[in-house]
Amino acid sequence: MLPFLYKIAQQFYTQYGNELYRYTFVLPNRRAGLFLQKYIAEIAGRPLFSPAMLTIQELFASLSSYQLADRIEMLVMLYNHYRKISGSGESFDDFLFWGDMLLNDFDDADKCLVDAKQLFRNVHDFRSLDDDLTHLTEDQIAAIRRFWTHFMPVEGSEAKQKFQETWKILYELYTAFRNELHEKGRAYEGMMFREVAEKARDKEERTWRTRSYIFVGLNALTPAEVMLLKHLGNLGMADFYWDYDSPPVRDPQNKASFRMAENLARFPSKFTLQAGDVQYEKTVVELIGVPSAVGQAKQVTRILSRLIESGAIPDPGEAIHTAIVLPDENLLLPVLYSIPQEIGKINVTMGYGLSHSSVASLVEHIALLQQNLRTRNGETAYYHRHVKALLNHPLVKMAADGEAESLKEHILAFNRIVVPQSEIPDHPLLSLIFTPIAQWQEIGDYLHQIFSHLYQSLTMVKRKDQSSDVTDAEMHDGEPEEMRAVDLEQEFIVQYYKTVTRLQDRLSGAGNMTVETWFGLLKKLARSISVSFSGEPLSGLQVMGVLETRSIDFENLIILSMNEGVFPMKNASGSFIPHTLRKGFGLPTHEHQDGTYAYHFYRMIGRAKRVYMLYDTRTEDVQSGEVSRYFYQLKYLYNPQFEISERVVAYDVAAPESAPVTVTKTAGIMRKLDGFLAGNEKFLSASLINNYIDCPLKFYFTAVEGLSEETEVQESVEADVFGSIFHRLMEIIYNRYKNRTVTPDVLTGIASDEVYLTEILEQAFARYYFRDEENPRPLEGQHYLIGEILRSYVKQTLQADQQFTPFQYIGSEYRFHAAYPVRDGLTVNFKGSIDRIDRVGETIRIVDYKTGSGPTDFKEISRLFDASKSNRPYQILQVFVYGLFYLMENPGTRVSPAVYYLRSVFRDFDPSICHDKHPIGDISIYMEEFSEMFRSLLKDIFDPEVPFSQTQNQKNCEWCAFKDLCNR
Ligand code: SF4
Repeated sequence: MLPFLYKIAQQFYTQYGNELYRYTFVLPNRRAGLFLQKYIAEIAGRPLFSPAMLTIQELFASLSSYQLADRIEMLVMLYNHYRKISGSGESFDDFLFWGDMLLNDFDDADKCLVDAKQLFRNVHDFRSLDDDLTHLTEDQIAAIRRFWTHFMPVEGSEAKQKFQETWKILYELYTAFRNELHEKGRAYEGMMFREVAEKARDKEERTWRTRSYIFVGLNALTPAEVMLLKHLGNLGMADFYWDYDSPPVRDPQNKASFRMAENLARFPSKFTLQAGDVQYEKTVVELIGVPSAVGQAKQVTRILSRLIESGAIPDPGEAIHTAIVLPDENLLLPVLYSIPQEIGKINVTMGYGLSHSSVASLVEHIALLQQNLRTRNGETAYYHRHVKALLNHPLVKMAADGEAESLKEHILAFNRIVVPQSEIPDHPLLSLIFTPIAQWQEIGDYLHQIFSHLYQSLTMVKRKDQSSDVTDAEMHDGEPEEMRAVDLEQEFIVQYYKTVTRLQDRLSGAGNMTVETWFGLLKKLARSISVSFSGEPLSGLQVMGVLETRSIDFENLIILSMNEGVFPMKNASGSFIPHTLRKGFGLPTHEHQDGTYAYHFYRMIGRAKRVYMLYDTRTEDVQSGEVSRYFYQLKYLYNPQFEISERVVAYDVAAPESAPVTVTKTAGIMRKLDGFLAGNEKFLSASLINNYIDCPLKFYFTAVEGLSEETEVQESVEADVFGSIFHRLMEIIYNRYKNRTVTPDVLTGIASDEVYLTEILEQAFARYYFRDEENPRPLEGQHYLIGEILRSYVKQTLQADQQFTPFQYIGSEYRFHAAYPVRDGLTVNFKGSIDRIDRVGETIRIVDYKTGSGPTDFKEISRLFDASKSNRPYQILQVFVYGLFYLMENPGTRVSPAVYYLRSVFRDFDPSICHDKHPIGDISIYMEEFSEMFRSLLKDIFDPEVPFSQTQNQKNCEWCAFKDLCNR
């Protein structure tokens, strides 16, 4: 198989030898030019002056009198004209989307040499269609008729009316915009193309009389290109070579052949290229379905290894005849990381969207931070979620890990919903990022400084790695993977730096703009920028996008994303010009796009020996899981020329039956449990006992291993904080009456003292919510509302307490620490805190407050320990434990337990705990039975033979923090 460009090189070197430098080759892309140069050098076998290589765009630019204008600059210019002509007050932000679309439409119109006046004509009246159309073709007239018939009358359709209003000004806008560009000596690509084509049409040949051009491997020519090529052909200055060798490309039924006949007839070749040295062999085509996007990259590893093993890649260090083609650039990084070690050099000739880089995500977080600045006590403050997103960003962690971590801890410790400027740690990067921006003009410098700092930090990381971690083997194999990743990051940062500079320069004349608009523009600009990778020129495995394959041939092709909608790409209708008009005026439509894509595909595989096509089989989200139509065409239309096989890589995605998680009490775990034995430092509590009953494994996680849920900044008052504030309020209120008698009047007096209640509410919020006890502050917004709910709960509790008056308040938060004998040789530490203790007559009331609702009645003691049933009355077990220990410390006391459920306290509520509907006036009569079960449970906990197993009652797992660990 001789590559197309090799045959060109052979033909022209044979023909012109040393004189070849007098010619200029015009190719579809730069890569093709490099390959052609390489082949010429190989054939010559000695140094010679190389001919010039240009892309078709470069040729037009070289013949034009204009300089290519910057896109952002053009958008600003177009916007200013639009506002002047339309009188619209539309913001730049809103204009951006369709301003961009208009630029593309103007570009298309000029490349297709369309009469813009006729295209953008304003048809107020159907009869005006008959005027002034004489110079248009029948097709164009029909298109205009069809389009405007559909659009009139406009009454009743707001969308059509709006369209017509904009359409009305398009020609004026187009003209004014072009005039300004012309005056500045600048142009968009289409404008350059039109200028050069018109010069060619007017036979202004003097500017390009000096050279001979050889056009190689082009296909979809625009009318402007056709005009120039014709003109150069007529002057005898041009020769043309088309790559239409592949049989499917020559099939008139195949869309790939869309332009062939016309091009060959219009632009014939002077020489006949040598036929390939071998007849076309059957190309091996393997279609591989993979149920994941990144999984395709993993398959690349296997395919390359197979090619190396089989000798299809004879020298893995120099795999230049093998290409990986990526129709979806998102797969570039996964693919790069999947290339086997044996492949020495990799040459990436495609862009990787700047917007996919990690510096892009950092800038997005910075934008959010700056767009949501707040002021707290006269100081700039940042919303905690934006701050945390930045602190967790890999680039910030890389440069300021210690300070970022301590700031995160500080935010949590003080529950900072907004983080004041003064609390940002003193670190150069954090100081740079957390500098408030007031005007868009400041953003450029601000970002530049951040980028410079990050770049330097990455350089230091590299130096450190080079001096320490790199093994001999890694050095031998070239750059280690981590270093490649650092290089990539640095490249992205440099590109972002340049992009910011460009944006700042272009916008220097722009008027008012918000910080938000500026960041929006940057994002948009970044989306349009691809970082091109430049490896060793022409050596190693080639990784490229579809367009980069034009004119180049490979023996082994691995094409990823062979999904319908990706390759060929789905039609994107980014045009203001309706399809009928596009068609009528000969502007590119999706039919053209289909033909162009088909040509790229069939030409690319035309000389390959092996083609591996990978596709994503998934059907979720935007994925259709559908194989590209090209494969089906190969299979059903061109089968005799290919040896086709198909397979789907199956991953076992069925979730394995997860084995139950059980923790055996090893010697180590028993040692940890010993910590709870009398005389040691750890204590059991009523809530840990409830944990054990609900799930022994959960007890193990919390009590033995000390695991807990991750703490979060609480933006709203969560249930636990709500409960703590309520407890505190009741404690403050009753502490004034310690060991005194509480009468109905006392309770009524407290409940009606609003000023006092407000004051203690602020104190309790400062302690438990703002975590700043020294500085109580007035409650605002949602805190005020929650404060009012608490106020009403307090009043209702005081109301409920009326039924026990007169009573003596003994204390709140009564704490006990006790050694509890379980059996011989086993005494355990226990501690607890009883919310409140009163004396009513001869009875001691043990009171517990609960924020929710729950039972106050139970049937049997055993129900308190039975986790198999839902709604186990764990609240009652808790007050029984309190009763047990209170009695241990105060034997002979008559104890009555009570639980105040705040959700129930509004109704006619009696908080007394009842056994089978009878209020318990003396808990001691239940203690024998309770203690027996309690001891048995404690024996289990400390029994080395009883493992910590998962609960059988999966309802208990519903809100458990360890669900993920347990696969529940
Ligand atoms: S998820 Fe279920 S089984 Fe696992 S610890 Fe929590 S409650 Fe126990």
